[in-house]
Amino acid sequence: MDPIRYALTFPASHTHYVHIRAEIPSAGRESIELSMAVWTPGSYLVREFSRHVESVTAESPGGSTLRVEKTAKNRWRVVTGGAPTVIVSYRVYGREMSVRTNWIESDFAFINGAPTFLTLAGEPRRPHEVSVVPASGWMHSITALDPGARPHTYCAPDYDTLVDSPILIGNPELHEFSIDGVRHALANAGDTTFFDAPRAVNDLEAIVRAHKEFWGSLPYPRYVFINLITEAGGGLEHARSSVLMTSRWATRSRKAYLRWLELASHELFHAWNVKRLRPIELGPFDYEREVFTPSLWMVEGITDYYGDVLVLRAGRSSAQEFLDSLSDKIEELQTTPGRGVRSMTQASMDAWIKLYRPDENTPNTAISYYTKGAVVAFLLDAKIRRATGGRRSLDEVMREAYARYSGSYGFTPDEFRALAEHVASIDLGAFWRTAIEGTDELDYSEALEVFGLQFRPANGTLNSKPKAWIGAMTKIDAGRLLIAQVKRETPAFSAGLNVDDEIVAIDQVRVRSDRLDERLEQYAPGDRISVLVARRDRLLSLDLVLGAEPPRVWRLEPRPA
Ligand SMILES: [Zn+2]
Repeated sequence: MDPIRYALTFPASHTHYVHIRAEIPSAGRESIELSMAVWTPGSYLVREFSRHVESVTAESPGGSTLRVEKTAKNRWRVVTGGAPTVIVSYRVYGREMSVRTNWIESDFAFINGAPTFLTLAGEPRRPHEVSVVPASGWMHSITALDPGARPHTYCAPDYDTLVDSPILIGNPELHEFSIDGVRHALANAGDTTFFDAPRAVNDLEAIVRAHKEFWGSLPYPRYVFINLITEAGGGLEHARSSVLMTSRWATRSRKAYLRWLELASHELFHAWNVKRLRPIELGPFDYEREVFTPSLWMVEGITDYYGDVLVLRAGRSSAQEFLDSLSDKIEELQTTPGRGVRSMTQASMDAWIKLYRPDENTPNTAISYYTKGAVVAFLLDAKIRRATGGRRSLDEVMREAYARYSGSYGFTPDEFRALAEHVASIDLGAFWRTAIEGTDELDYSEALEVFGLQFRPANGTLNSKPKAWIGAMTKIDAGRLLIAQVKRETPAFSAGLNVDDEIVAIDQVRVRSDRLDERLEQYAPGDRISVLVARRDRLLSLDLVLGAEPPRVWRLEPRPA
């Protein structure tokens, strides 16, 4: 099949536009239908990328103008007039700093496939070629796409590969290393002044080695970490690259740096888990509508667990740092009332309307399949170790799943469970029904025993009296103290405090917006108070019985010998 050929130019990058000229073969048809993706894999939300597309025009190779009609929110029909090739020109606005959108400015451009390239509707197997004309002063273009014959030209064998291969253009700092002859690069863009690149490269190298040891080999011919040092957050996996977003200060604090290493490790683990070993529903993709799978807990939760495990195995975190990261996840899960409402399989199915569309009630009605998935991976790992006397673990499940199901087929939920049962040589039906498909409280006792851990006893209760607690999250907005979130089964929930209520006074004495904690110190758990709030400007008084601030009981530590 003839390729679609795109040329990207940046005639005024400071205005945040990329200009695209696409040569599209018509194969003699009277008209061709072009489409733009409405979402991009790894990020489950319809994002309506076509809203940033402007001025779509078409002409024949001879220069005659061809008619273009909009046929849907993300589709255009071009009447070819018999032209064998149609030249379509348009521009795309990009100023959203996220891993799945476009960002174009005077310093650099970060271009994703889904929000950029119009393609022939229904012909995803066709090759797509891209040539980039960097803006004046820009030296490099970095992408995992295979290079073409000339500088800044690239080839994708199909539309999926094009979408899976973001392009960074500008003057990124490139740091390269090889593992067993496979080239890896860390491409730092943004403010690189304070980011300790030599240290980051050294640690990444150790982490890639740990992943290679885990899986047995590297699945790609080369790999790029695109690291955007732009004070934004997030990461996104691709088959031969990943995008990381971080702060200029990320290497300056141990905690922030460890988060960055764990993020890089998480995205790298996806090069196997989801980009090659995947749930059956996650490919081939329909880029014009949602795709639903119950298995995102496996895709994201197991990846999150191993992201941290492999930083530890690479010797880049301490055992206590690993336990602290895992404790954060357990603590988040165990203090989120939504764990009793929605299972992980339900949360996976509802990613499009829940995880990517959070609101003030989310903690009461949902859990993150990242968080619970990682915790359940930890429990499953322990269960397999216990059942096999330590001879096998979740490691073998992942390696065996990769051997069986990576490639074009994908696995069903039943196949993955059967494989885990095969490795563990036990029936995991009850565990699956409660921990994965159910909302029962998780049982940590087995994992604590297998790994020699305990939850740190909540101290302080003997020496200091428990603090009075209303159990709502507050925020200060324009000097006003507002309720931001009310979790179920808290004093605030029982008293009828609502999100957006402004706390004005407690017991007829005004509460200054920054003094709530100080005021609550005047009371003890069990005291009854009267809270004066302004709700849509009307004052009302609510009776509230103060609770005791819950102690932190979900912090892991090694069990004393
Ligand atoms: Zn992920």
